[in-house]
Amino acid sequence: MNDIPDRDPVMAQADLDPENWDELRHLGHRMLDDMLDHLRDLRSQPVWQPLPPETRAGFHAPLPVSGADPAAVYERFRDTILPYSTGNTHPRFMGWVHGGGTPLGMLAEMLAGGLNANLGGRDHAPIEAERQVIAWAAQAFGLPESAGGLLVTGSSMANFIAVLLARQAALGPESRKSGVGAARLTAYASQTVHRCVPDAMDMAGLGSDALRRIPVGTDHRMDISALRAAIASDRAAGATPFLVVGTAGSVDVGAFDDLAATADIAETEGLWFHVDGAFGALAALSPALAPHVAGMERARSIAFDFHKWAQAPYDAGCILVRNQADQIATFATNAAYLTAATRGLAANAPWPADLGPDLSRGFRALKIWFALQVFGAARLGAVAENSCAVARHLAARIAAEPALELLAPVPLNIVCFRYRAEESEADQLNAEIVADIQEAGLAAPSTTRIGGRLAIRAAFVNHRSRPEDADALVAAVLEAGRALVRKAG
Ligand SMILES: *Cc1c(COP(=O)(O)O)cnc(C)c1O
Repeated sequence: MNDIPDRDPVMAQADLDPENWDELRHLGHRMLDDMLDHLRDLRSQPVWQPLPPETRAGFHAPLPVSGADPAAVYERFRDTILPYSTGNTHPRFMGWVHGGGTPLGMLAEMLAGGLNANLGGRDHAPIEAERQVIAWAAQAFGLPESAGGLLVTGSSMANFIAVLLARQAALGPESRKSGVGAARLTAYASQTVHRCVPDAMDMAGLGSDALRRIPVGTDHRMDISALRAAIASDRAAGATPFLVVGTAGSVDVGAFDDLAATADIAETEGLWFHVDGAFGALAALSPALAPHVAGMERARSIAFDFHKWAQAPYDAGCILVRNQADQIATFATNAAYLTAATRGLAANAPWPADLGPDLSRGFRALKIWFALQVFGAARLGAVAENSCAVARHLAARIAAEPALELLAPVPLNIVCFRYRAEESEADQLNAEIVADIQEAGLAAPSTTRIGGRLAIRAAFVNHRSRPEDADALVAAVLEAGRALVRKAG
């Protein structure tokens, strides 16, 4: 453009490519080097630290009208964002269920950003890469060739899509126009189902009350006879049972419902069988853990996340559907301007936009396409197995420590325990222990409630976590507990 003598000032501003490519290249290389160093040296950093108030205040600056030097804004990133991120890349992050990400994933995100592909549709290789990822996932879980799927933000969205698939299957195509009308659809899941499933029922217009919460046994699995009874009682009351959700890896303790028995019931009762396997579905990749998900291959749909055990950078959720035809029946529309052609850029139906609610979509698939080839499915299975080994190590340490007490069985990668104290003080004390450890940057467990009691919850998901990280958690809990008891006494 520099050869245009009187360059229109608006036109000059509208070109957002760098004026000086070498300068931006230099900055880009620095960012890459800094970030690789940061990831290499995670262990020596605090897991998490709270934002200082003045740093937080910096995020309330007014809208910048004229621009700034990218190097200066990068410095602001280094000072005000980098040190105060979630902490889930760190090996001693054990809160909630967070994946750790990988340097490879970061690089793939950069490539995807460069391509800036829109995966809503059209005929291009990024769509084929996503289809490849979906086909690999279907193979990993033993779904048939007819399977389809879609990458989405996370399992919350994937579970929502599953409810919509099941709703369409129950009410038929006309319901997409006429709505649910007077239909009284009821769904079933364990008492400990992730909260996004009742939310999905709400968003699907069915109401969260229509999700029947089935009690769990002492093994934290859905009580199958209670499930059968609930379905029978709803039928007797004139409702229409349409969906049963089996959990593979519950978010509280990592329990697996009996998926084969659930599949049997879904079959006899004519219900859509969906599995919420947000993290646990990937147990299928480990020969040692795969028995936990026996029966999952019979599901009509499976929700899971690549951003948890598979360590893809956020976000990377996935909905798999046994028959892609169900997806098309639920989401495809015939807007003329979007109708795929037989040749040219507008070919290549069915487009992802016809398989889910999003039209414009990014190239989430690339980081997974890289990971599955570079690491291979077996190595991702080993990541899951290692998480469980670290959890067992922690459980053994707790069992041997008189001041600590396990609050739930450890079937998988999640350990719920507490520092022993008077019952009336235990909840408060353990909540403070967790906050103290987090604020000290030593480790980041979270909390949950088990049988009404507050538990310190350590979920091992990060591929970087080792037994010594569990040891560090035990040491930190004991020290924080003793200090708090001393202070109170
Ligand atoms: C994490 C999780 C979800 C929600 O997934 P997001 O990716 O956070 O949306 C749903 N169910 C279970 C069992 C989970 O662990």
